[in-house]
Amino acid sequence: TETGLQTETLPAAPAAAPTAGDLMAKFDPLIAERQKLIDSGVIDPFAIVMEEVRSPTEAVIDGRETILLGTYNYMGMTFDPDVIAAGRTALENFGSGTNGSRMLNGTFRDHIEAEEALRDFYGTTGAIVFSTGYMANLGMISTLAGKGDYVILDADSHASIYDGCKQGYAEIVRFRHNSVEDLDRRLGRLPKDAGKLVVLEGVYSMLGDVAPLKEMVAVAKKHGAMVLSDEAHSMGFYGPNGRGVYEAQGCEGEVDFIVGTFSKSVGTVGGFCVSNHPKFEAIRLACRPYIFTASLPPSVVATAAASIRKLKVAHEKRARLWDNARNLHGGLKALGFNIGTETCDSAIVAVILEDQTQAVAMWQALLLSGLYVNVARPPATPAGTFLLRCSICAEHTPAQIAAVLERFAAAGRATGVIA
Ligand code: PMP
Repeated sequence: TETGLQTETLPAAPAAAPTAGDLMAKFDPLIAERQKLIDSGVIDPFAIVMEEVRSPTEAVIDGRETILLGTYNYMGMTFDPDVIAAGRTALENFGSGTNGSRMLNGTFRDHIEAEEALRDFYGTTGAIVFSTGYMANLGMISTLAGKGDYVILDADSHASIYDGCKQGYAEIVRFRHNSVEDLDRRLGRLPKDAGKLVVLEGVYSMLGDVAPLKEMVAVAKKHGAMVLSDEAHSMGFYGPNGRGVYEAQGCEGEVDFIVGTFSKSVGTVGGFCVSNHPKFEAIRLACRPYIFTASLPPSVVATAAASIRKLKVAHEKRARLWDNARNLHGGLKALGFNIGTETCDSAIVAVILEDQTQAVAMWQALLLSGLYVNVARPPATPAGTFLLRCSICAEHTPAQIAAVLERFAAAGRATGVIA
Protein backbone atom coordinates (compact mmCIF):
# COMPACT_ATOMS: atom_id res chain seq x y z
CA THR A 1 0.00 0.00 0.00
CA GLU A 2 1.01 3.64 -0.21
CA THR A 3 1.45 3.89 3.53
CA GLY A 4 3.62 0.78 3.59
CA LEU A 5 5.85 2.29 0.95
CA GLN A 6 6.27 5.46 2.98
CA THR A 7 7.08 4.10 6.41
CA GLU A 8 9.83 1.87 5.05
CA THR A 9 11.63 4.73 3.37
CA LEU A 10 11.25 7.55 5.85
CA PRO A 11 13.36 8.48 8.82
CA ALA A 12 11.88 8.06 12.28
CA ALA A 13 10.48 11.09 14.11
CA PRO A 14 13.20 13.39 15.45
CA ALA A 15 14.52 12.89 18.96
CA ALA A 16 13.02 15.37 21.42
CA ALA A 17 16.31 16.86 22.62
CA PRO A 18 19.27 16.73 20.22
CA THR A 19 22.49 15.60 21.87
CA ALA A 20 25.12 18.31 22.08
CA GLY A 21 27.73 17.84 19.39
CA ASP A 22 25.45 15.73 17.16
CA LEU A 23 26.06 17.13 13.71
CA MET A 24 22.84 15.49 12.56
CA ALA A 25 20.77 17.67 14.89
CA LYS A 26 20.54 20.43 12.30
CA PHE A 27 18.30 18.18 10.20
CA ASP A 28 15.59 18.04 12.86
CA PRO A 29 13.41 20.75 11.27
CA LEU A 30 13.64 18.95 7.90
CA ILE A 31 12.76 15.60 9.45
CA ALA A 32 9.87 17.16 11.36
CA GLU A 33 8.52 18.83 8.22
CA ARG A 34 8.66 15.55 6.30
CA GLN A 35 6.98 13.71 9.17
CA LYS A 36 4.17 16.26 9.31
CA LEU A 37 3.51 15.69 5.62
CA ILE A 38 3.43 11.91 6.08
CA ASP A 39 1.23 12.15 9.18
CA SER A 40 -1.32 14.02 7.11
CA GLY A 41 -1.86 10.71 5.30
CA VAL A 42 -0.43 11.55 1.87
CA ILE A 43 1.99 9.50 -0.19
CA ASP A 44 5.56 10.74 0.10
CA PRO A 45 6.28 12.40 -3.27
CA PHE A 46 10.03 11.98 -2.76
CA ALA A 47 10.06 8.21 -2.15
CA ILE A 48 8.56 6.81 -5.35
CA VAL A 49 9.89 3.46 -6.57
CA MET A 50 9.62 2.38 -10.20
CA GLU A 51 8.91 -1.32 -9.72
CA GLU A 52 8.94 -2.02 -13.45
CA VAL A 53 9.77 0.25 -16.37
CA ARG A 54 8.09 -0.90 -19.58
CA SER A 55 8.97 1.88 -22.00
CA PRO A 56 10.06 5.54 -21.95
CA THR A 57 6.48 6.47 -21.06
CA GLU A 58 5.14 3.60 -18.92
CA ALA A 59 6.08 2.12 -15.56
CA VAL A 60 4.56 0.21 -12.67
CA ILE A 61 4.47 2.20 -9.42
CA ASP A 62 2.99 0.60 -6.30
CA GLY A 63 1.47 -2.15 -8.45
CA ARG A 64 -0.25 0.38 -10.73
CA GLU A 65 0.25 0.90 -14.48
CA THR A 66 1.41 4.49 -14.70
CA ILE A 67 2.03 6.98 -17.50
CA LEU A 68 5.38 8.70 -16.95
CA LEU A 69 5.14 12.48 -17.36
CA GLY A 70 7.86 13.44 -14.92
CA THR A 71 11.10 12.11 -16.36
CA TYR A 72 13.62 13.98 -18.50
CA ASN A 73 13.40 11.29 -21.15
CA TYR A 74 12.54 13.92 -23.76
CA MET A 75 13.56 11.94 -26.82
CA GLY A 76 12.55 8.53 -25.50
CA MET A 77 15.95 6.95 -26.18
CA THR A 78 16.11 4.64 -23.13
CA PHE A 79 14.53 1.68 -24.93
CA ASP A 80 15.94 2.32 -28.40
CA PRO A 81 17.06 -1.09 -29.72
CA ASP A 82 20.36 0.24 -31.17
CA VAL A 83 21.18 1.99 -27.90
CA ILE A 84 20.49 -1.13 -25.85
CA ALA A 85 22.50 -3.29 -28.27
CA ALA A 86 25.50 -0.91 -28.03
CA GLY A 87 25.38 -1.04 -24.24
CA ARG A 88 25.08 -4.82 -24.18
CA THR A 89 28.03 -5.29 -26.54
CA ALA A 90 30.22 -2.97 -24.48
CA LEU A 91 29.21 -4.67 -21.25
CA GLU A 92 30.14 -8.05 -22.67
CA ASN A 93 33.39 -6.94 -24.30
CA PHE A 94 34.73 -4.43 -21.80
CA GLY A 95 33.19 -5.52 -18.49
CA SER A 96 31.01 -3.68 -16.02
CA GLY A 97 33.28 -0.80 -15.01
CA THR A 98 36.56 1.03 -15.57
CA ASN A 99 37.94 1.08 -12.01
CA GLY A 100 39.63 4.40 -12.48
CA SER A 101 39.98 7.98 -13.61
CA ARG A 102 39.95 9.10 -17.22
CA MET A 103 43.51 10.33 -16.53
CA LEU A 104 44.82 6.88 -15.68
CA ASN A 105 43.26 3.54 -16.65
CA GLY A 106 39.67 4.82 -17.13
CA THR A 107 39.66 5.85 -20.79
CA PHE A 108 38.23 3.01 -22.89
CA ARG A 109 37.44 2.94 -26.57
CA ASP A 110 33.84 4.01 -25.99
CA HIS A 111 34.76 7.14 -24.01
CA ILE A 112 36.56 8.26 -27.15
CA GLU A 113 33.55 7.18 -29.25
CA ALA A 114 31.20 9.26 -27.09
CA GLU A 115 33.46 12.32 -27.39
CA GLU A 116 33.68 11.79 -31.15
CA ALA A 117 29.86 11.53 -31.34
CA LEU A 118 29.58 14.81 -29.37
CA ARG A 119 32.04 16.66 -31.63
CA ASP A 120 30.05 15.47 -34.62
CA PHE A 121 26.68 16.36 -33.06
CA TYR A 122 27.75 19.87 -31.99
CA GLY A 123 30.14 20.57 -34.84
CA THR A 124 32.91 21.51 -32.41
CA THR A 125 36.61 20.74 -32.33
CA GLY A 126 36.56 19.69 -28.66
CA ALA A 127 34.43 17.48 -26.41
CA ILE A 128 35.10 16.23 -22.88
CA VAL A 129 32.92 13.64 -21.14
CA PHE A 130 32.41 13.88 -17.37
CA SER A 131 30.77 11.38 -15.03
CA THR A 132 27.57 13.46 -14.64
CA GLY A 133 26.16 16.77 -15.83
CA TYR A 134 26.48 18.02 -12.28
CA MET A 135 30.21 17.33 -12.44
CA ALA A 136 30.51 18.91 -15.88
CA ASN A 137 29.23 22.22 -14.48
CA LEU A 138 31.17 21.84 -11.25
CA GLY A 139 34.36 21.06 -13.16
CA MET A 140 34.07 23.55 -16.00
CA ILE A 141 33.06 26.55 -13.90
CA SER A 142 35.54 25.94 -11.09
CA THR A 143 38.39 25.31 -13.54
CA LEU A 144 37.63 28.30 -15.78
CA ALA A 145 36.92 30.85 -13.05
CA GLY A 146 39.23 30.94 -10.04
CA LYS A 147 40.20 33.38 -7.31
CA GLY A 148 39.92 36.95 -8.56
CA ASP A 149 37.69 36.01 -11.53
CA TYR A 150 33.96 36.69 -11.73
CA VAL A 151 31.13 34.30 -12.52
CA ILE A 152 28.03 36.19 -13.57
CA LEU A 153 24.99 33.94 -13.34
CA ASP A 154 21.22 33.96 -13.55
CA ALA A 155 19.62 33.96 -10.08
CA ASP A 156 17.62 30.84 -11.03
CA SER A 157 20.69 28.82 -12.05
CA HIS A 158 20.91 25.09 -11.37
CA ALA A 159 22.57 23.97 -8.12
CA SER A 160 25.54 22.52 -10.03
CA ILE A 161 26.32 26.01 -11.40
CA TYR A 162 26.27 27.59 -7.94
CA ASP A 163 28.42 24.75 -6.59
CA GLY A 164 30.93 25.22 -9.43
CA CYS A 165 31.32 28.89 -8.40
CA LYS A 166 31.98 27.92 -4.78
CA GLN A 167 34.50 25.25 -5.71
CA GLY A 168 36.51 27.68 -7.82
CA TYR A 169 36.48 30.54 -5.25
CA ALA A 170 35.39 32.99 -7.94
CA GLU A 171 33.36 36.08 -7.06
CA ILE A 172 29.67 35.36 -7.74
CA VAL A 173 27.54 38.08 -9.32
CA ARG A 174 23.88 37.22 -9.77
CA PHE A 175 21.51 38.93 -12.15
CA ARG A 176 17.71 38.88 -12.20
CA HIS A 177 16.31 35.80 -13.95
CA ASN A 178 16.38 36.23 -17.74
CA SER A 179 16.95 40.01 -17.47
CA VAL A 180 19.24 41.28 -20.24
CA GLU A 181 19.25 44.76 -18.67
CA ASP A 182 20.32 43.52 -15.25
CA LEU A 183 23.06 41.38 -16.80
CA ASP A 184 24.33 44.44 -18.70
CA ARG A 185 24.23 46.65 -15.59
CA ARG A 186 26.07 44.16 -13.39
CA LEU A 187 28.75 43.43 -15.98
CA GLY A 188 29.26 47.18 -16.37
CA ARG A 189 30.20 47.51 -12.68
CA LEU A 190 32.99 44.92 -12.81
CA PRO A 191 36.68 45.77 -13.30
CA LYS A 192 37.45 46.00 -17.02
CA ASP A 193 40.46 43.69 -16.94
CA ALA A 194 39.05 40.99 -14.65
CA GLY A 195 38.33 37.48 -15.98
CA LYS A 196 34.57 37.08 -16.43
CA LEU A 197 32.45 34.02 -17.17
CA VAL A 198 28.74 34.51 -17.87
CA VAL A 199 26.82 31.29 -17.19
CA LEU A 200 23.40 30.85 -18.81
CA GLU A 201 20.92 28.03 -19.34
CA GLY A 202 19.00 27.53 -22.59
CA VAL A 203 15.87 26.23 -20.81
CA TYR A 204 15.27 26.77 -17.10
CA SER A 205 13.96 23.49 -15.81
CA MET A 206 11.57 24.62 -13.10
CA LEU A 207 9.16 26.73 -15.16
CA GLY A 208 10.28 25.53 -18.59
CA ASP A 209 11.05 29.07 -19.75
CA VAL A 210 13.71 29.89 -22.33
CA ALA A 211 16.56 32.40 -21.99
CA PRO A 212 16.97 35.32 -24.42
CA LEU A 213 20.40 33.88 -25.18
CA LYS A 214 21.09 35.93 -28.29
CA GLU A 215 20.71 39.23 -26.46
CA MET A 216 22.51 37.98 -23.37
CA VAL A 217 25.46 36.62 -25.29
CA ALA A 218 25.77 39.93 -27.16
CA VAL A 219 25.83 41.82 -23.84
CA ALA A 220 28.42 39.42 -22.40
CA LYS A 221 30.69 39.88 -25.43
CA LYS A 222 30.30 43.67 -25.27
CA HIS A 223 31.81 43.50 -21.77
CA GLY A 224 34.58 41.09 -22.77
CA ALA A 225 33.16 38.08 -20.90
CA MET A 226 33.33 34.44 -21.95
CA VAL A 227 30.02 32.54 -22.09
CA LEU A 228 29.05 29.07 -20.94
CA SER A 229 25.55 27.82 -21.72
CA ASP A 230 24.03 24.79 -20.01
CA GLU A 231 21.82 23.14 -22.63
CA ALA A 232 20.72 20.20 -20.45
CA HIS A 233 17.01 20.66 -21.19
CA SER A 234 17.22 21.49 -24.88
CA MET A 235 19.56 18.91 -26.41
CA GLY A 236 18.00 16.98 -29.24
CA PHE A 237 15.07 19.21 -30.10
CA TYR A 238 16.00 22.91 -30.44
CA GLY A 239 17.59 24.22 -33.61
CA PRO A 240 18.02 22.61 -37.02
CA ASN A 241 20.54 20.07 -35.62
CA GLY A 242 19.00 19.69 -32.19
CA ARG A 243 21.98 21.34 -30.52
CA GLY A 244 19.99 23.54 -28.22
CA VAL A 245 18.52 26.97 -27.64
CA TYR A 246 21.79 28.65 -28.58
CA GLU A 247 21.54 27.05 -32.03
CA ALA A 248 17.84 27.87 -32.37
CA GLN A 249 18.55 31.54 -31.55
CA GLY A 250 21.53 31.71 -33.89
CA CYS A 251 24.38 32.46 -31.51
CA GLU A 252 26.52 29.41 -32.18
CA GLY A 253 29.62 31.41 -33.02
CA GLU A 254 29.62 33.36 -29.76
CA VAL A 255 29.06 30.79 -27.01
CA ASP A 256 32.45 29.59 -25.77
CA PHE A 257 31.39 26.48 -23.86
CA ILE A 258 28.30 24.28 -24.01
CA VAL A 259 27.60 22.01 -21.06
CA GLY A 260 25.16 19.14 -21.33
CA THR A 261 24.11 15.86 -19.82
CA PHE A 262 23.45 12.28 -20.92
CA SER A 263 20.70 11.95 -18.27
CA LYS A 264 17.96 13.66 -20.26
CA SER A 265 17.55 13.41 -24.06
CA VAL A 266 20.48 11.01 -24.43
CA GLY A 267 18.81 8.59 -22.01
CA THR A 268 21.70 7.33 -19.88
CA VAL A 269 23.98 9.04 -17.37
CA GLY A 270 27.00 11.31 -17.79
CA GLY A 271 27.87 14.90 -18.56
CA PHE A 272 29.96 16.80 -21.07
CA CYS A 273 31.33 20.08 -22.30
CA VAL A 274 31.97 20.93 -25.95
CA SER A 275 33.93 23.91 -27.25
CA ASN A 276 35.90 25.29 -30.17
CA HIS A 277 38.48 26.94 -27.94
CA PRO A 278 41.96 25.99 -29.24
CA LYS A 279 43.23 25.25 -25.71
CA PHE A 280 40.12 23.31 -24.58
CA GLU A 281 42.04 20.04 -24.07
CA ALA A 282 43.97 21.67 -21.20
CA ILE A 283 40.81 21.33 -19.07
CA ARG A 284 41.59 17.62 -18.75
CA LEU A 285 44.89 18.46 -17.05
CA ALA A 286 43.50 20.83 -14.45
CA CYS A 287 39.89 19.95 -13.73
CA ARG A 288 39.46 18.19 -10.38
CA PRO A 289 35.95 16.75 -10.99
CA TYR A 290 37.36 15.22 -14.19
CA ILE A 291 40.55 13.86 -12.68
CA PHE A 292 39.64 12.71 -9.19
CA THR A 293 36.73 10.39 -9.91
CA ALA A 294 36.16 7.14 -11.77
CA SER A 295 35.09 7.35 -15.40
CA LEU A 296 31.72 6.14 -16.65
CA PRO A 297 31.27 2.38 -17.24
CA PRO A 298 31.87 1.28 -20.85
CA SER A 299 28.22 0.25 -21.33
CA VAL A 300 27.12 3.77 -20.36
CA VAL A 301 29.42 5.61 -22.77
CA ALA A 302 28.58 3.13 -25.53
CA THR A 303 24.84 3.77 -25.09
CA ALA A 304 25.55 7.52 -25.02
CA ALA A 305 27.53 7.39 -28.28
CA ALA A 306 24.83 5.33 -30.02
CA SER A 307 22.07 7.60 -28.75
CA ILE A 308 23.83 10.87 -29.73
CA ARG A 309 24.46 9.58 -33.28
CA LYS A 310 20.74 8.79 -33.61
CA LEU A 311 19.64 12.10 -32.04
CA LYS A 312 21.53 13.98 -34.72
CA VAL A 313 19.09 12.78 -37.37
CA ALA A 314 15.99 12.32 -35.18
CA HIS A 315 13.99 14.96 -37.08
CA GLU A 316 10.72 13.08 -36.88
CA LYS A 317 11.07 12.48 -33.14
CA ARG A 318 11.76 16.20 -32.64
CA ALA A 319 8.58 17.08 -34.50
CA ARG A 320 6.55 14.60 -32.41
CA LEU A 321 7.98 15.98 -29.18
CA TRP A 322 6.93 19.52 -30.10
CA ASP A 323 3.43 18.32 -31.15
CA ASN A 324 3.03 16.58 -27.80
CA ALA A 325 4.34 19.59 -25.87
CA ARG A 326 1.96 21.98 -27.65
CA ASN A 327 -1.00 19.66 -27.12
CA LEU A 328 -0.29 19.26 -23.43
CA HIS A 329 0.44 22.94 -22.82
CA GLY A 330 -2.66 24.05 -24.73
CA GLY A 331 -4.86 21.38 -23.14
CA LEU A 332 -3.85 22.19 -19.56
CA LYS A 333 -4.27 25.90 -20.17
CA ALA A 334 -7.73 25.34 -21.63
CA LEU A 335 -8.69 23.37 -18.52
CA GLY A 336 -7.90 26.47 -16.46
CA PHE A 337 -4.57 25.52 -14.89
CA ASN A 338 -2.00 28.20 -14.13
CA ILE A 339 1.03 27.33 -16.30
CA GLY A 340 4.64 28.49 -15.83
CA THR A 341 4.86 29.92 -19.35
CA GLU A 342 2.21 31.71 -21.41
CA THR A 343 3.22 29.88 -24.59
CA CYS A 344 4.65 26.41 -25.15
CA ASP A 345 8.36 27.23 -25.11
CA SER A 346 9.93 23.93 -24.09
CA ALA A 347 9.25 20.27 -23.26
CA ILE A 348 8.55 21.21 -19.64
CA VAL A 349 5.06 22.29 -18.65
CA ALA A 350 4.90 23.49 -15.04
CA VAL A 351 1.52 23.71 -13.32
CA ILE A 352 1.69 26.34 -10.55
CA LEU A 353 -0.21 25.57 -7.34
CA GLU A 354 -0.99 27.65 -4.29
CA ASP A 355 0.91 25.80 -1.59
CA GLN A 356 2.45 22.51 -0.60
CA THR A 357 -0.85 21.01 0.63
CA GLN A 358 -2.59 21.70 -2.66
CA ALA A 359 0.42 20.55 -4.70
CA VAL A 360 0.75 17.25 -2.85
CA ALA A 361 -3.02 16.59 -2.91
CA MET A 362 -3.12 17.15 -6.65
CA TRP A 363 0.04 15.14 -7.23
CA GLN A 364 -1.38 12.22 -5.21
CA ALA A 365 -4.72 12.30 -7.04
CA LEU A 366 -2.80 12.10 -10.32
CA LEU A 367 -0.60 9.25 -9.10
CA LEU A 368 -3.60 7.23 -7.92
CA SER A 369 -5.15 7.72 -11.36
CA GLY A 370 -2.00 6.28 -12.97
CA LEU A 371 -0.06 9.42 -13.89
CA TYR A 372 3.36 10.37 -12.54
CA VAL A 373 4.53 13.99 -12.57
CA ASN A 374 7.27 15.75 -10.54
CA VAL A 375 6.56 17.83 -7.48
CA ALA A 376 8.93 20.77 -7.11
CA ARG A 377 9.09 23.08 -4.13
CA PRO A 378 11.33 25.76 -2.68
CA PRO A 379 14.30 26.09 -2.58
CA ALA A 380 14.51 24.39 -6.00
CA THR A 381 11.72 26.56 -7.41
CA PRO A 382 11.75 30.32 -8.11
CA ALA A 383 9.78 32.78 -5.93
CA GLY A 384 8.66 30.16 -3.41
CA THR A 385 6.31 28.45 -5.85
CA PHE A 386 4.95 24.89 -5.61
CA LEU A 387 4.89 23.18 -8.96
CA LEU A 388 3.72 20.00 -10.65
CA ARG A 389 6.19 19.66 -13.46
CA CYS A 390 5.32 17.69 -16.56
CA SER A 391 8.07 16.76 -18.96
CA ILE A 392 7.04 15.53 -22.35
CA CYS A 393 8.51 12.66 -24.32
CA ALA A 394 8.61 12.23 -28.09
CA GLU A 395 7.25 8.72 -27.49
CA HIS A 396 4.05 9.81 -25.73
CA THR A 397 1.20 8.83 -28.02
CA PRO A 398 -1.73 11.14 -28.79
CA ALA A 399 -3.89 8.70 -26.77
CA GLN A 400 -1.58 9.07 -23.77
CA ILE A 401 -1.68 12.87 -24.00
CA ALA A 402 -5.48 12.68 -24.13
CA ALA A 403 -5.48 10.40 -21.05
CA VAL A 404 -3.11 12.81 -19.27
CA LEU A 405 -5.50 15.72 -19.88
CA GLU A 406 -8.51 13.69 -18.65
CA ARG A 407 -6.66 12.75 -15.48
CA PHE A 408 -5.56 16.34 -14.87
CA ALA A 409 -9.15 17.52 -15.32
CA ALA A 410 -10.48 14.93 -12.84
CA ALA A 411 -7.74 15.48 -10.25
CA GLY A 412 -7.96 19.27 -10.61
CA ARG A 413 -11.70 19.24 -9.95
CA ALA A 414 -11.44 16.73 -7.09
CA THR A 415 -8.87 18.87 -5.30
CA GLY A 416 -10.49 22.21 -6.10
CA VAL A 417 -7.55 23.47 -8.16
CA ILE A 418 -9.84 24.16 -11.13
CA ALA A 419 -13.57 24.81 -11.12
N1 PMP B 1 22.18 21.30 -15.45
C1 PMP B 1 20.85 21.42 -15.40
C2 PMP B 1 20.22 22.65 -15.92
C3 PMP B 1 20.08 20.38 -14.87
O1 PMP B 1 18.75 20.50 -14.80
C4 PMP B 1 20.72 19.22 -14.41
C5 PMP B 1 19.96 18.03 -13.83
N2 PMP B 1 18.66 18.16 -13.55
C6 PMP B 1 22.11 19.14 -14.46
C7 PMP B 1 22.81 20.20 -15.00
C8 PMP B 1 22.86 17.94 -13.93
O2 PMP B 1 22.77 16.88 -14.81
P1 PMP B 1 23.04 15.37 -14.34
O3 PMP B 1 21.72 14.77 -14.00
O4 PMP B 1 23.67 14.74 -15.50
O5 PMP B 1 23.97 15.44 -13.16
